[in-house]
Amino acid sequence: ENQLPRPTKRRILTVANQKGGVGKTTSTVNLAAGLAIHGLKTLVIDLDPQGNASTALNVEHRSGTPSVYEVLLGETTLAEAAAVSEQSPNLLCVPATIDLAGAEIELVSMASRESRLKEALSDDALDELGVDYVFVDCPPSLGLLTVNAMVAAREVLIPIQCEYYALEGLGQLLSNIELVQAHLNPELSVSTIVLTMYDGRTKLADQVTNEVRNHFGEVVLKTVIPRSVKVSEAPGYGQTVLAYDPGSRGAMSYLDAAREIAERGARGGTTEKGAGA
Ligand code: ADP
Ligand code: MG
Repeated sequence: ENQLPRPTKRRILTVANQKGGVGKTTSTVNLAAGLAIHGLKTLVIDLDPQGNASTALNVEHRSGTPSVYEVLLGETTLAEAAAVSEQSPNLLCVPATIDLAGAEIELVSMASRESRLKEALSDDALDELGVDYVFVDCPPSLGLLTVNAMVAAREVLIPIQCEYYALEGLGQLLSNIELVQAHLNPELSVSTIVLTMYDGRTKLADQVTNEVRNHFGEVVLKTVIPRSVKVSEAPGYGQTVLAYDPGSRGAMSYLDAAREIAERGARGGTTEKGAGA
């Protein structure tokens, strides 16, 4: 199999959008699998108490399993909580258990409550795992868990659904990102936008696509993810669509999107223009 190029520097991407159902988890697991299957060691952090990314990767996440919750509390190391997925030996996942549901409240009274994930994702901890890419799958809110993800990452990846109201709420997300930039993490930027659930039969999908491209320019991946039954079926089998039906349009577009991300990273940049962009 052809290998994807390694990034010049390890990349940490936070997958965020406070709207539910826009494709955060689906994009996280399938992009991560695309990179991992093609040779790049990739870590998924499931930061949503729903545990959907853990389910999709078929990683144990019953209450009591070492998970991101214990990592945030400093009770477990990243390496202890990271499980190897069946999708690829290169694909690791730190699962979320239902215990994480209380964390949003528990974190409020903790020291350095916004930077606990950042502390856990130290260079040493990530070197130990040998990962090139980290994806943090956020819950559908802008609470402390998502803030932790934005403080821990340099890049935000926003999935946008090609639907009515797709852009509604984006302003709120962007102003939260600006707040984090201003106060907690000056290096943070929106590096990647993925258009998801594109239905070519509707005019609306093209309108949304054009609007997003006009507004965000080169950070929008050229590859658009189509709406596809295979994509939605895969998690029910504990698989990514790349394993479930590698020849499907959904699988191929997630692989193309992963390739775009890898090529940007290999140029030392986060966007088409490369370094410093
Ligand atoms: P989020 O994590 O933002 O809440 P999900 O990734 O869980 O969103 O996606 C929401 C729902 O849409 C899920 O049932 C998922 O299987 C489905 N879905 C996501 N992407 C696609 C797609 N490209 N085609 C069809 N269904 C999709
Ligand atoms: Mg999700």
